[in-house]
Amino acid sequence: MDKLAIVGGNPVIQHDFERYVTIGEEEIAAVTSVMKTGNLSQFIGAWCPDFYGGPTIQQFEKEWADYFGVQHAIAVNSWTSGLTAAVGAIGIEPGDEVIVSPWTMAASATAILHWNAIPVFADISREDFCLDIDATERSITEFTKAIMIIDIFGQSADMEAFRNLADKYSLKLISDTAQSPGSFYNGKLTGTLADIGGYSLNYHKHIHTGEGGMIVTNDANLAERARLIRNHAEAVVGDKGHLDLVNMVGFNFRMGEIEAAIGIEQLRKLPSLLKSRQEIGIKLTRKLSEIYGLVVPKAIAGRTHAYYALPIILDLEKLKCDRRTIVEALNAEGLDGISEGYTNLHLLPMYQKKIAYGSQGFPWVKGIAHREIDYSKGICPVAEELHQSSFISFEVCKFNLSDEEIDLISSAFQKVLRHYSR
Ligand SMILES: *Cc1c(COP(=O)(O)O)cnc(C)c1O
Repeated sequence: MDKLAIVGGNPVIQHDFERYVTIGEEEIAAVTSVMKTGNLSQFIGAWCPDFYGGPTIQQFEKEWADYFGVQHAIAVNSWTSGLTAAVGAIGIEPGDEVIVSPWTMAASATAILHWNAIPVFADISREDFCLDIDATERSITEFTKAIMIIDIFGQSADMEAFRNLADKYSLKLISDTAQSPGSFYNGKLTGTLADIGGYSLNYHKHIHTGEGGMIVTNDANLAERARLIRNHAEAVVGDKGHLDLVNMVGFNFRMGEIEAAIGIEQLRKLPSLLKSRQEIGIKLTRKLSEIYGLVVPKAIAGRTHAYYALPIILDLEKLKCDRRTIVEALNAEGLDGISEGYTNLHLLPMYQKKIAYGSQGFPWVKGIAHREIDYSKGICPVAEELHQSSFISFEVCKFNLSDEEIDLISSAFQKVLRHYSR
């Protein structure tokens, strides 16, 4: 029983877990009813009533705004598009600096680059894996325009602290809440506390429309600018009489009626889907917290967790092997859904070589960037150590797990960690 599967013992987990599936009869019926209208999108990229899209898009946006308690929700065809529109909406100038976490999906930082602005990576906190407040403050220069907060793995960053910091230096706050829809920060829904923020509706996330995203803001001006960027701004502003032309360079970031119909049903399911993720996440956290050699995050007062992923730190001082050995042994015990490390965006070749638009280093060149930006290894020591050595995560949004299966996962960890502990 105690012989590790990796050396020929019996694996603890002997069956595949059921996948987490959110799409059902409700979505099928909603799609069918849109199909029967023959109207799969109603957006027009010119100033007219259909500039804001068809009835299903507008209903989806209204329901999203109501649920999240915000003035404006703007549906887009991905959250990558949403981030790009959000950064453009705040009126960023080429060469402006935006502080962003290196622990996020690549799109958070490229949304900054797309406006020829400069991502500046600040280190993360070991408590919540979001931007560290002190590291963020140290990264602020006279050229900083905004801070992009990533509410990573399912939990809000400390938004009160970031709001105070942003106010102190007159910066805008953008939040990327792709992984944390429905979690709370001091009674408010995560993602709604920045100047502009939003969520992904990609099929990996808690709820989805295949591909899609939603921008939220309480600022009518930012909302209108994001809607313009979504839908060919440059072709619309003249007839609309829109006077602020900054970044009124548009895209087609529009969502179709079918995705919106799916999204309406998915949003209605969010509370129950979230509850199922939280039940799994909380039970698993409690079990893993008892295992020697593992550090699982403690609950933080005022914040709830949506458990997109369960972050885990290996206490390497208590172990006589490295992370690779542990993960291989866990995999051999039949455990799927474990990732080693997360990401270090600043170490991607694009930032290391500073080659983005064209071959000449744009936008980090003289005349655009105000100073030399440091992306070298060592600028984010916490993020780098966790990524390279001690961090693993379990993808909670991949499976539906019974209590027995949660016990099996915990037994697999127990068996492997006991074997390798000092
Ligand atoms: C998924 C994700 C994105 C991108 O969302 P898409 O809808 O796939 O474009 C951005 N940021 C984070 C943190 C994400 O997890």
